[in-house]
Amino acid sequence: MVTPTPGIHHVTAIGSDPGRNYEFYTGTLGLRLVKQTVNQDDVSVYHLFYADGEGSPGTSMTFFPYTNARQGQVGVGQASTTQFLIPGDSVDYWVDRLDDRGVDAEEPRERIGDTVVPFTDPDGTKLELVAREDAPAGNPHERPVPAEHAIRGFFGVTLSLASLESTAPLLEAMGYERTATEGDRTRYESSGELGYVVDILELPEDTRGQPGAGTVHHVAFQVTGDEQEAWRELLMDYGLRPTEIIDRKWFESVYARTSGGVLFEFATRESGYTVDEPLSELGERLVLPEWLEDRREEIEAGLPALGLEDPTEPQN
Ligand code: ZN
Repeated sequence: MVTPTPGIHHVTAIGSDPGRNYEFYTGTLGLRLVKQTVNQDDVSVYHLFYADGEGSPGTSMTFFPYTNARQGQVGVGQASTTQFLIPGDSVDYWVDRLDDRGVDAEEPRERIGDTVVPFTDPDGTKLELVAREDAPAGNPHERPVPAEHAIRGFFGVTLSLASLESTAPLLEAMGYERTATEGDRTRYESSGELGYVVDILELPEDTRGQPGAGTVHHVAFQVTGDEQEAWRELLMDYGLRPTEIIDRKWFESVYARTSGGVLFEFATRESGYTVDEPLSELGERLVLPEWLEDRREEIEAGLPALGLEDPTEPQN
């Protein structure tokens, strides 16, 4: 048996220009860069982690920004949309902010009782702001977006799947319960305060997604550290082939591609982003896990300049 997951740990997507990615997630969305490192499976590429002010669980959107990335196609078999939680009375603020920053957002709409603002990042990654009165105060970064309107973390993810049944039983075993259905959307919720929603869009006729810039690479869920082996067994019980436990420095992870095609990660919530940097300095310099530190010179030489600028200054 495993302890049910409280929800999402992080969402990792593929981007292109790393500087533009940094500018959008910090300057426009007001998240904090909490970890500047490399993709441990391809050290020629950054791995950038954006989160709330403290890198809290359930708040990290992360990117592999490949400078010459091929454009991906959002579609079936993917986590098609990432949903961020904002306070209930912050919709007007965000509609104005996205407009001011030149982001082409769609009109706010009602969905399962909430107001939702759909938009995309510069690579076409599909994002939504979901406004809820019960959004927790959280630990917002406070600049450039004032704390009262700041993104609190994730609300959830939307999975586009050929069939609900490919993934719903696994979600239920992970601790999710079906709570709502609206059109082709079925909602599952866990018990956490952030990142507790998984929406499944059942789209049997739609085109399969293609990996590349603008698509989500994997969705990670929070698990308890000493239960990683139990999670591996649960995944095998569902016919999946989980990886061994992999030390990612800031958490330990098990990965498994689900029957619906989406790559899930099961990441421990215990360690976190302050194991190698003080809270006040998170994200300011390139950090490497100790097993890559002796290759720092070579790794730094192979990375494009990130061009960190003060995200409080408006830019176009
Ligand atoms: Zn991950």
